[in-house]
Amino acid sequence: MGELQHEVTRANFRTWLQPTGGLLFEHGVFVVGVPSIFAREWLGKRWQPLIKRTLAKLLGQEVGLEFRIVQPGAEPEAPVPAIPLPDSLNPRYTFENFVVGEGNRMAYSSLLVASERPGKTYNPLFLYGASGTGKTHLLQALGHRAVQQGYRLLYATPERLASEFITAIRHRTTEELKQSYRQADLMVVDDIHLLEGKRQTQKFFFQTFEELHQASRQLVVASDRLPHALPLEERLRSRFQSGLVVDIHPPGQATRQAILQQRAQQLTICLDAPSLELLASHGQGSVRELEGYLHRAVAYAQLHQVPLSPEVIRQALAFQSCSAPEAALGAGEILMAVARTLGVTLEQMRGPGRSRQLSRARQVAAYLLREKLGWSLERIGQELGGRDHSSVLYAYRRVAQSQGQHPQVQEVLAALQAHPGASARAEAV
Ligand code: ADP
Ligand code: MG
Repeated sequence: MGELQHEVTRANFRTWLQPTGGLLFEHGVFVVGVPSIFAREWLGKRWQPLIKRTLAKLLGQEVGLEFRIVQPGAEPEAPVPAIPLPDSLNPRYTFENFVVGEGNRMAYSSLLVASERPGKTYNPLFLYGASGTGKTHLLQALGHRAVQQGYRLLYATPERLASEFITAIRHRTTEELKQSYRQADLMVVDDIHLLEGKRQTQKFFFQTFEELHQASRQLVVASDRLPHALPLEERLRSRFQSGLVVDIHPPGQATRQAILQQRAQQLTICLDAPSLELLASHGQGSVRELEGYLHRAVAYAQLHQVPLSPEVIRQALAFQSCSAPEAALGAGEILMAVARTLGVTLEQMRGPGRSRQLSRARQVAAYLLREKLGWSLERIGQELGGRDHSSVLYAYRRVAQSQGQHPQVQEVLAALQAHPGASARAEAV
């Protein structure tokens, strides 16, 4: 700090940091020009708090601080008109809140570059990784960053694409919809595999994709499957393969600890080092699961009015530690656990009944058979009493929409973990 302040008081910080247009404040924010993305990231991550503190001290008031890229010697850019942030972006999913480790560094850098220079480098960009590894977080971070820089962002899920497209067909406004999509500087689609079975939407997406690509607009999609394994039209698969496919791996122990620490800070929870280490060692790889452990431990400690400690964490997560490895799960276990949790029988699930409870049970079963065992829709249909491909797909989607947060899926998984092998008696499926 001393060194920085020394530099600053010598009043050479303007040249050092190149403040844009010599302005100290822009709407209460101190804007600092920097020559590159990397300078901005580095300053933002390493120096932002210190610079803010120093400026506050020098100016006698708290100030906002923003690093903005400017070419050396260039005139400051005219302020870009603010574009409203799409509702769908979670304010927590930013680059600043993303912990970078070995497994996700490549994904982080590629998306960062794409958000800074859309359409100029990797295009299309295909982000691939297992559930809970941070794909949605990174896509939204890219979205936030792009919007902050004044780029027009089209951020969609396959569901949203389909519903906007269907509404447009109904109102005969597909041309207008296409026009509005064509305005985008970046088109970002999460969970692209959920376009499966939506033939017309796929066609519409393909046309939009082609037009935007030809106009050098940035395209970014994410999926838990590699392009060649996507259940989509061949021409879409090959378009995705032609760009940069970047995978994101589950974080290792050190990154898991850093993520937990950050999350605990956000939740203003105190976690000592042994607790952190213990929590981070739970589970297999999904960060979503890891966050779930933290929430569970916090809730447990609050309930028992005790501070968080390794012992409390052990008690809170007792059922997770004796969990059966997921790979050992069989369809019999899954179906029995679904039936038991949702209060139906296997016969009913396979029978003709159409009550809400039964449909819910079939949806959860279809989702788990597909996600955990990789079964095809046809095979699931046969297992669930000879149901056809499209109704299985519909059932699967109802659950897949909730991005791993479906309460009954969580319940079934918890039941499977609590009683591994309890359903070994289940009939062969
Ligand atoms: P995916 O889309 O791959 O299933 P998400 O992006 O939804 O995963 O991530 C699940 C949760 O884990 C989110 O709350 C996200 O913020 C968090 N998360 C994942 N990776 C990281 C990371 N590297 N740093 C901080 N949080 C992370
Ligand atoms: Mg996701």
